[in-house]
Amino acid sequence: MSNEERSSVAERYSNKVPQPLNSQFSEHVSKSVAVERYTQRKERDTTKLYPAAEEQNVLEATSRTPSGGAKRTRRPAKCRKCGKPMKGHNASACRSKP
Ligand SMILES: [Zn+2]
Repeated sequence: MSNEERSSVAERYSNKVPQPLNSQFSEHVSKSVAVERYTQRKERDTTKLYPAAEEQNVLEATSRTPSGGAKRTRRPAKCRKCGKPMKGHNASACRSKP
């Protein structure tokens, strides 16, 4: 095979080689730009807490203290049959009642 033949064959096959994948995207950007955009998107997409985190901590702390109360609205459960509180309820004694 002569030199000429070889170069012509090489040319013919190199024409069949597809372009690199990244060149097929017209909006392709360099890595630095992509990284910058990524960080910007990250910042934008983070949802701000409402109420703010510090405020939530305060609210949580106040709601936990028993003196802060306002959660003591629930009455202790009572038996439906005898009306006595379910705490320490004697089921057998309750059932024996008429
Ligand atoms: Zn009962």
